[in-house]
Amino acid sequence: MAEEPKKIKRPRGKARLIPGKCIACGARCQAECPFDAIVMNEKGEPIIDLEKCTGCQRCVKVCPVQALEIVFTPEEQKILAELAAQKAVAKPAPEPETAPADPRLAKIKEYKGVWVFTEHTEGKPAEVSWELLGVGADLAKVRNVELCSIVVGDKVEHLCAEAFAYGASKVYLTDDPVFHYYRTESYYKALCYLIEKYKPEIVLIGATGLGRDLAGAVATKLQTGLTADCTGLSIDDKGFLLQTRPAFGGNIMATILTEFTRPQMSTVRPHVMAMPLKDTSRTGTIVREKVPVKEADIAAKVLEIIGDEKLDSVDVAAADIIVSGGRGMCNTENYKILQELADELHGVVACSRAAVEAGWMPLERQVGQTGKTVRPKIYIACGISGAIQHLVGMQDSDTIIAINRDKQAPIFEVATFGIVGDLFQIVPAITAYVREARQRKTEGKAA
Ligand code: FAD
Repeated sequence: MAEEPKKIKRPRGKARLIPGKCIACGARCQAECPFDAIVMNEKGEPIIDLEKCTGCQRCVKVCPVQALEIVFTPEEQKILAELAAQKAVAKPAPEPETAPADPRLAKIKEYKGVWVFTEHTEGKPAEVSWELLGVGADLAKVRNVELCSIVVGDKVEHLCAEAFAYGASKVYLTDDPVFHYYRTESYYKALCYLIEKYKPEIVLIGATGLGRDLAGAVATKLQTGLTADCTGLSIDDKGFLLQTRPAFGGNIMATILTEFTRPQMSTVRPHVMAMPLKDTSRTGTIVREKVPVKEADIAAKVLEIIGDEKLDSVDVAAADIIVSGGRGMCNTENYKILQELADELHGVVACSRAAVEAGWMPLERQVGQTGKTVRPKIYIACGISGAIQHLVGMQDSDTIIAINRDKQAPIFEVATFGIVGDLFQIVPAITAYVREARQRKTEGKAA
């Protein structure tokens, strides 16, 4: 009888960087390594800790330019040669190619459900909370999980009914005088307590001043990933939350996922997501939670609320009609022609960042990546070229009318109607036309 060949364990080797091939893509290999075996040097290239590397090949597979390879010691090469020789005699059972089970993946399976934080000022809700329930419903449907709201405040139970009307099926309510005013410490502690207790897989927060402050504190405490200012949210085929946002100054759209920690946290700016339909007949479950946060433990005290009188009273983000001007307006004075058109249309005047930087318009009127996100019924862009950083703030408007003398201007790529010509002739002509049309209508009614 032929003797069975001795079973030899196939060596896995170690990962190695091929000199000169790394393009510093942004630490994809480091993010992929389940064994913390990779650190990045200041050039953005990986340094591999051979003690920790198990040769799992995940970094090799994720590298976009094949800059990593698996290498074997001379002893390992000898074993591989021996295995190849054995294979030639008898076909051995194939070695499993999969990497050892990642301990972090088991933990994230405990997390279920999509949560939306309900932002409010002394009980008055911020609309972005309802917008997030709209996109949250889509995510929860794909994941086949519950859509829940978190309401934290003082005498805020009325917000639960609104959360149900906008799509939540459950609300975690923490109602206590200690939460009357927003303070980072009390609110982040409340959220962390609820998240640690109920383990949602996704937490969405509005990217407002309050939301940015809160989300950062919660993600830091829970040691999880947070993607700020997302413009798109979806679920991939493995069930991960795909968080899309502008990166590198808005020149590319990056899709980010939180692979090994939970919850997956995102902030989204107001008006980026569509408002869902309100249905006041909807109801749900209220889970009342007493959170162990006491006034004596909170260092910050609110003594007085002082409104900002200098703040521009026009809310461009809430306007239905926006007449917006860019560098093509040339000076502050010329914005009067935009104001006249806006007045005729019952709209407001906004601007590009170039106009803010030139000192022609206040920052509160700026539309775009570092300004407001708007979704009006009509957006009229006058003398605005259409840089990507401007487009991300207005491209979801229902109708976009662009006026520009450069027919190659990128604004025409998103425009519903484009007018090529001098805005100083076109804008007053439109204003006069609207004014006359309105007058004719009034006269017709009177006759
Ligand atoms: P320009 O690009 O100079 O365009 C002026 C346009 O006016 C030209 O197309 C020209 O043909 C036209 N024009 C001139 N005269 C006339 C005329 N008489 N009639 C008709 N057309 C005329 N920008 C924003 O807007 N919002 C942001 O939030 C924002 N955030 C940014 C964030 C970062 C990190 C960076 C790097 C940039 C950001 N920018 C932002 C700046 C952005 O890249 C552009 O520089 C800016 O949007 C250009 O403004 P503009 O279109 O008014 O000016």
